[in-house]
Amino acid sequence: MAAVNNGSDSQPAKHQEVGHKSLLQSDALYQYILETSVYPREPEPMKELREVTAKHPWNLMTTSADEGQFLNMLLKLINAKNTMEIGVYTGYSLLSTALALPDDGKVILALDINRENYEIGLPIIQKAGVAHKIDFREGPALPLLDEMIKDEKFHGSFDFIFVDADKDNYLNYHKRLIDLVKIGGVIGYDNTLWNGSLVAPPDAPLRKYVRYYRDFVLELNKALAADTRVEICQLPVGDGITLCRRVS
Ligand code: SAM
Ligand code: CA
Repeated sequence: MAAVNNGSDSQPAKHQEVGHKSLLQSDALYQYILETSVYPREPEPMKELREVTAKHPWNLMTTSADEGQFLNMLLKLINAKNTMEIGVYTGYSLLSTALALPDDGKVILALDINRENYEIGLPIIQKAGVAHKIDFREGPALPLLDEMIKDEKFHGSFDFIFVDADKDNYLNYHKRLIDLVKIGGVIGYDNTLWNGSLVAPPDAPLRKYVRYYRDFVLELNKALAADTRVEICQLPVGDGITLCRRVS
């Protein structure tokens, strides 16, 4: 889909790609990345799930195709076997994860408060032949993580954890996940550039939810930068993803 014009002569609008979260200044360049490097290599089930999700009213929440490709590559690079995902929605990032895992790999826990949306993607995940790798659980993440923490066998057991849920809880998740991820493993926190709003002036006209969560994301970014238990790398992929590699 080409960049669209919003009606004013001078300002081209952000293009209408579903899951459009790019922070690139040029929509044309983002479109170029999608059309040249992402869509031609997107596995058929991911394309199908992206198209089904596009019809859902909350499609803004989905992981973008370029970020899906990034996650898939990252998991293969680190030879991830045991993973966790907090915030599934219809399952685009989950499917990109499950497709990257080896046959004996597992998304030990895929967690969301809403199972209905996951069920939109589930038939496609089943058709892709990777549903057996996924243990989906419906419910709020925090109490479940507290349960897991009580069981020593989960400590240091995850190669990769993707966090893409309620931003006001990311620091609460981090306190627990740091014990669950193994040393050398990676936690990926999504949306850490929060629509570019982090550097917006105080009087900038921000959507209500963007303004509400902004302070939590600012606090998270500061805390991760100061946390010596992890090495970090914040990438402007999608809406920003911060990779934390546990070192102690
Ligand atoms: N990773 C998903 C994808 O690729 O489409 C997008 C996730 S969406 C941005 C955020 C999800 O977090 C929503 O589906 C929402 O129901 C879920 N969520 C919100 N609060 C939660 C909580 N406390 N525990 C678990 N999931 C939660
Ligand atoms: Ca996200």
